[in-house]
Amino acid sequence: MFMTPASELESPLHRTALAQLDAIAERLNVESGIHERLRYPRRALTVSIPVRMDDGRTEVFTGYRVHHDTALGPSKGGLRYDPGVDLGEVSALAMLMTWKCALMGLPYGGAKGGVRCAPQRLSVREREGVTRRYTVEIMPLIGPDLDIPAPDLGTDEQTMAWMMDTYSMTQGRSVPGMVTGKPLIIGGSYGRREATGRGVVSVLHQAAHHLGHELRGKRVVIQGFGNVGSVVARLLWNDGCMIVGVGDINGGIWNEQGLDVLKLQAHVKESGSVVGLPGAEPISNADLIEQACAVLVPAAVGSQIHEGNADRVKAAVIIEAANGPTTAEADAILHERGVRVIPDVLANAGGVVVSYFEWVQGLQHHFWRETEVTSRLQEIMTRAVDRVWATAERQDVTLRSAALMEGIGRVAEAHRVRGLYP
Ligand code: NAD
Repeated sequence: MFMTPASELESPLHRTALAQLDAIAERLNVESGIHERLRYPRRALTVSIPVRMDDGRTEVFTGYRVHHDTALGPSKGGLRYDPGVDLGEVSALAMLMTWKCALMGLPYGGAKGGVRCAPQRLSVREREGVTRRYTVEIMPLIGPDLDIPAPDLGTDEQTMAWMMDTYSMTQGRSVPGMVTGKPLIIGGSYGRREATGRGVVSVLHQAAHHLGHELRGKRVVIQGFGNVGSVVARLLWNDGCMIVGVGDINGGIWNEQGLDVLKLQAHVKESGSVVGLPGAEPISNADLIEQACAVLVPAAVGSQIHEGNADRVKAAVIIEAANGPTTAEADAILHERGVRVIPDVLANAGGVVVSYFEWVQGLQHHFWRETEVTSRLQEIMTRAVDRVWATAERQDVTLRSAALMEGIGRVAEAHRVRGLYP
């Protein structure tokens, strides 16, 4: 019935995102003109980023910034540095951000950015060069009332500080509100660095409450030990869970008796990887996904649970800390097998919720205490789980469908009342 979006958007994640939108729009009876508009990014920019490397060569990287939808407000979304970045992936992630912001009731549309590069192979000076030139190249698309980037895979507080400085220099004044997830000293928020992981853990506690389970003593496997995965590991360990397996880009580690997460954090700080932790056995990332555990937390890259391994996943619950870790085919298999999947748009929304807090604090020049940030975050996450759970039960749909029904429904309603310009 609809045109196929341009071939440059073609990617597995974009196909999944479109299939999800189409199924939910049909279920919600979204007017076809609005449904069609939601299938496309509002705008997408591809940029070349020439950078002088440490060895004197000039290397040109490719970067993207995509605004999927802005019906609810300025667009918001992370910036990732990863070799797998392409326009299709960034567009799909921007679409997911639209639904996520709407689901959480934030006054934002969805956006995403990315640079195709392997950040761990770049020196600090080269990463700074990539970030500053990328910021200048996407300048027409960003700003505190227009589109506000934040950290994601392969980027961090330092990346946001360079973006904020570059943007501010071109404006001749400090503009802290143009990014979130920046260091405290230049207008960041308490609790932003931990927000996504903390949100994941709040959602998991509330899900366990609905399922009538106790988390204490449960076996947990986590893929990804960066910003999100490491916080999830520490908080669940503090809550008495057994973190039996953890992986990162270099491989995984396993200890049947549970890993000591404090020792693991110290090891990662020193060596840069989870691999080689004394007292743990090595395991591949592929095997990690298939180990028996109560909770599997994908917290790295997309499409890790797919048609080829979904029927061997032995976790009772999967909580998607990463964006798009489960393909549509795997989702159907897991549902059939009774594995509960807590979807990314709900599970990892804590990051954008505290980004919103940071943006509001910056606009008001009034900063909150950490306990205030944490308790407001927890309240918003818990309420969202309750709403999604109630919809899933009432409509007899998966948690993913219930979450998307609320997110997509809100955006469609905003389009209906705003109408089509001109
Ligand atoms: P990060 O760069 O801090 O950490 C990523 C982790 O994943 C690292 O341990 C890295 O080694 C590992 N990894 C990377 N590629 C891998 C691969 N191919 N196989 C196995 N492991 C791999 O990133 P992050 O901020 O923790 O983000 C992780 C995920 O969470 C991403 O999917 C991101 O989109 C999502 N997310 C992040 C935030 C945030 O606030 N940072 C918010 C929402 C969602």
